[in-house]
Amino acid sequence: MKHRFIILMILCLSLIGRSNSQATPTPAPLGLTIHVLQRGETLEGLAQAYGLSLADLLRLNSLSDAQSVQVGQRLLVPAQIIADSPTQPYIVQPGETLDSLANRFGLAIAELIQINGITDPNQVYSGQVIQLPSSVQLPDEVTNAGTPILHTVQRGETLFQIALAYGSTVSDLVNANSIADPTRIFVGQQLIIPVQTRGSAAQALPAPLTSLQVVPLAFVEGETGVLRFSTSQPTQISGTFLERELRIISDDGLQHLAIIGVPLLTPAGIYRVSLRLASNSTTIPFAFNLRVLSGSYATSNLNLSQEQMALLAPAVEEFELGLLTRVTTPFNIRRLYTAPFSLPAAAAMNAPFGTRRSYNGGEVNRIHNGADFASAPGAPVYAAAAGRVVLADLLNIRGNTIVLDHGWGVYSVYAHLSSMSVQLGDSVRVGQIIGAAGATGRVTGPHLHWEVWVNGVSVNPLQWTHQTIP
Ligand SMILES: [Zn+2]
Repeated sequence: MKHRFIILMILCLSLIGRSNSQATPTPAPLGLTIHVLQRGETLEGLAQAYGLSLADLLRLNSLSDAQSVQVGQRLLVPAQIIADSPTQPYIVQPGETLDSLANRFGLAIAELIQINGITDPNQVYSGQVIQLPSSVQLPDEVTNAGTPILHTVQRGETLFQIALAYGSTVSDLVNANSIADPTRIFVGQQLIIPVQTRGSAAQALPAPLTSLQVVPLAFVEGETGVLRFSTSQPTQISGTFLERELRIISDDGLQHLAIIGVPLLTPAGIYRVSLRLASNSTTIPFAFNLRVLSGSYATSNLNLSQEQMALLAPAVEEFELGLLTRVTTPFNIRRLYTAPFSLPAAAAMNAPFGTRRSYNGGEVNRIHNGADFASAPGAPVYAAAAGRVVLADLLNIRGNTIVLDHGWGVYSVYAHLSSMSVQLGDSVRVGQIIGAAGATGRVTGPHLHWEVWVNGVSVNPLQWTHQTIP
């Protein structure tokens, strides 16, 4: 810290020295401040935003080239120019593109690209903070208040401070971001800051779409997200996201929603939602971008016996994954569950969802697609929600396994059971005992392994116990 401070002092002096050496009237010395580089920002864009040339910005930070910076890196920038910034921040609303923004605010696309240092005009996404010229009059309903925003955790920040700064609460942040342990957030982590008053953000949407809501505003690898649409007339909506056909649930043809599981290992990035809106014998296409954040899952090693190692054979794994994908893919249009789910066991959790795994110190090439509960052998296992038994069978890896269909493409899986007390086709209530915990299949000890699948995609089950989806 002391070291950094010294560097800053020297830089201030050198800047002052430089301006003094010129014969022109001495401008006020430049104050410096620190800008933490955000994902998607480039040094070129940053230099432009602060009114510097790229070379000046590099020199200011003793950097040799513009490629060597990382997200979260602290960069020195002039403090003064921020105050007279000719721009104002604006949060891109769901469904908006650079094209629609330019149209709406009477700007040239080239101008938006230049102000924001945008390298790929097709990568603008919902929730992105972009700069608009200060001359643009933002209508009241789209000022930045009322829109969920993204916050990048800075060094030294706590969840409590962040919540305070945004007028939110720790529990709201925990819920919005599926945080397992509120004391563990990390520098560079992207948090969704929910805002109570959503407002009626007027969006530039093509008829017959009248509203579009994305929850959460940025999706997360391994988690579930929801898209909601309203249309002014009965419309059939279909579309794709992450190369999968969306399952769209329509109520009276005017209210529509899609529950989306983002597969584990989906690389963080910007992805396109492509829709087709069919009404009155016309079909119009409509597309917008969503951002997918990394799930930031941990890595761990497990030790297994020779016999158990045999079950790591790719053919065994692929067969079982294929079976579960098939079982959890049919779409039952009747919703059987109420949200949020209840817990399937009265025991502590001992292995979270999403952990990358190696076995016996080998390569990290497996992923834990469920949550484990430290249930004692014979402890009751409860249905997390109402549903119908679509599988009750002995599998190689999961041992005695029950799969429940909850409707709307949502399924839950209970594995390693010592006994099963329901049969294929049975209807179950939430909280009903469906079996007992055990150690059947590939395990290092007795526990309940619990999974939730959405339209054939395995997702974080705990998100379903603390959020109302949809
Ligand atoms: Zn497990």
